[in-house]
Amino acid sequence: MTVTLANPVKYLRGVGPQRAAILEERGIGTVADLLSYLPFRYEDRIHFTAIAEITPGQVHTVLAEVASGNTVRFVRGRSPVFHLTVRDGSGALHARFFHGTYLQQRLKEGQRLVLHGRAELDAYRPGRIEMVNPQIELVGSDQGAADSTEVGRIVPIYEAIGAISSRMLRRIIYGVLLNFDGEVPDPLPEKLRERHRFPARREAVLYAHFPPKNESLELLNSFRSPAQMRLIFEEFFYYQLALALRRQKEHRQHGIVMRVREEKIREALKRILPFKPTAAQKRVLGEIAADLEREYPMHRLLEGDVGSGKTIVALEAATIVIENGCQVALMAPTEILAAQHFLSARRILEPSRYGIDLIVSGQKRPEREAVLTRVESGETKLLVGTHALIEDPVKFNRLGLAIVDEQHRFGVLQRKRLIEKGTAPHVLVMTATPIPRTLALTLYGDLDLSVIDEMPPGRTPIETRWTSDAQLPGAWEFLRREIGRGRQAFVLYPVIEESKQELKAATAEYERLAKTVFPNARVGLLHGRLKNEEKDAVMERFRRRELDILVATTVIEVGVDVPNATVMLIEHADRFGLAQLHQLRGRIGRGSEKSYCILVAPKTITGDARERIETMVATSNGFEIAERDLKQRGPGEFFGTRQHGDAAFSFAQPLRDHELLELARREAFAVAENPEQAGKVVSRLESVSPAWQKRYQLASVG
Ligand code: ADP
Ligand code: MG
Repeated sequence: MTVTLANPVKYLRGVGPQRAAILEERGIGTVADLLSYLPFRYEDRIHFTAIAEITPGQVHTVLAEVASGNTVRFVRGRSPVFHLTVRDGSGALHARFFHGTYLQQRLKEGQRLVLHGRAELDAYRPGRIEMVNPQIELVGSDQGAADSTEVGRIVPIYEAIGAISSRMLRRIIYGVLLNFDGEVPDPLPEKLRERHRFPARREAVLYAHFPPKNESLELLNSFRSPAQMRLIFEEFFYYQLALALRRQKEHRQHGIVMRVREEKIREALKRILPFKPTAAQKRVLGEIAADLEREYPMHRLLEGDVGSGKTIVALEAATIVIENGCQVALMAPTEILAAQHFLSARRILEPSRYGIDLIVSGQKRPEREAVLTRVESGETKLLVGTHALIEDPVKFNRLGLAIVDEQHRFGVLQRKRLIEKGTAPHVLVMTATPIPRTLALTLYGDLDLSVIDEMPPGRTPIETRWTSDAQLPGAWEFLRREIGRGRQAFVLYPVIEESKQELKAATAEYERLAKTVFPNARVGLLHGRLKNEEKDAVMERFRRRELDILVATTVIEVGVDVPNATVMLIEHADRFGLAQLHQLRGRIGRGSEKSYCILVAPKTITGDARERIETMVATSNGFEIAERDLKQRGPGEFFGTRQHGDAAFSFAQPLRDHELLELARREAFAVAENPEQAGKVVSRLESVSPAWQKRYQLASVG
């Protein structure tokens, strides 16, 4: 029986209802979906390393037999360790598995298996080589059928899906390909394919699952075989095409053309400036002003490290728009940040006497009603708020500019809903997450990019130190001195209340610090579970210097601006992500006084946590930090929510594949230039893969 792309997976050999359900949950319902699930790594199982030839410090793949195995429990309550000895014709190899008790049942003496991992010198037994937590795969003992997928070839390794192991997936896919009718239509235009020497889709897919023996393993594992490159390109290409067409559509819209060159506007801008803008701020405002003058609405991303002065630029843009008789909405991700924007907007725009209002969900009814009325009548010129801004009752009289702060906290949908509050308003998205340019193109490819790459003058660099728990008394003493000099400090905890995780918690530590450590200082507490009024009140007291120390959780992560605060002490710093630590540190060093960031974490930490702290100590360059963070975590988590950028790619990785991303972007934007050609490409995709068409939201174009 031949298998086609349309076949549901549940009837495939080796699948059955239970596995079909697991696959379906992962979005794999048909053979087409299954074949799009590509290996993340390949193993050379033609040339195994003989155990006698293993060199420590290198990664090896070994084909061997189980000689013995046993579980050792060193410490009560600690997870036991499984010790395994395997042998091949040349010698014996030792392997250790943490959390490996289940192997006791699975591995029988004489069982054939493949081990893949780094060989190391055994720390406890000089001279002995071992592998720690190698990846293992059982191999059938019959040298026949099983071997065609397990050894004797370059073997694809898949990410297991639930209970379906890499080996099972490989067998299922191999079974499909044995009976496959070979029909894999290719949505990419032929000319384009030829230009870049990309193989046809059919060839690429078959090749990516079971590459021929002579393919370079290095090329495969760096995702640079022609087959893989084509598949990566394809993912980027349609995504970029969707962005290009969306942008074209926006350019066809009629925006509100703003006048920016009038004396009146120049005067208004001068009124709001308490200081000289940096060259970067000037340049960026110029870019925004040029956008506002055009016939179609602005869609611009304003990127700048924490403290680079985005707020002023946003308020300048707001001023232009308000002077043109329109309203401005400014949406922030948290109530604290919204309140802060509201207060600073009122302060900075005070001479202009614009009506400025705040809308958050915790507001009292009459107050809220009054705000809604003023917004609808047009009396409110600038409305600052949280997502409460995009709720139904909010109606603008004439929304001319929508500003979204800290965009990575919001989904695209929320951005869209804000835009829909007006008729093709201009849009300015601000983010303090310095995204490398290529990634910005991927994730926000429908936006133009402006970067503030310069800090306001007069900042002294923040000194960052790594301190252990044992050194805490010294750190408290340091805080006392800073407070004595009239400065203020943040003390951060990862959790609000004590829990099983044995982490110090904000509430308990607040009590302790206030009573015993800083009996003579004024200490406040801020966390997410306080009522809004309480939060505002605490923040306001801190801002007015009525508090010396603010004990807090990460609620203060974004945007809080208190220039007199010069110390940020973060307990359990190893528990925080890199981007988060950088944001938190961005709360200090905002004035001219020297600031200090103290990261409290055990000196014994290893791995990613150690790297994070070392990075923080080594640099305060947001772009550098963002790149390292992306490498550690991948773009999905980096942006907090798994947004569109992530969902769009199953195989491509913007950071790894940036040159293909740029190529795809050029090609896609060129195709979009020509409506006839674009129409053809889109309809071709439609006939080849409706699922893809949906995924890239190419349906609505034309
Ligand atoms: P962010 O980019 O993090 O939103 P802000 O707009 O909050 O940064 O600005 C950070 C601090 O720098 C604020 O206290 C602001 O008043 C100040 N600032 C902004 N621009 C300038 C400038 N050109 N010169 C001096 N200080 C500035
Ligand atoms: Mg800000």
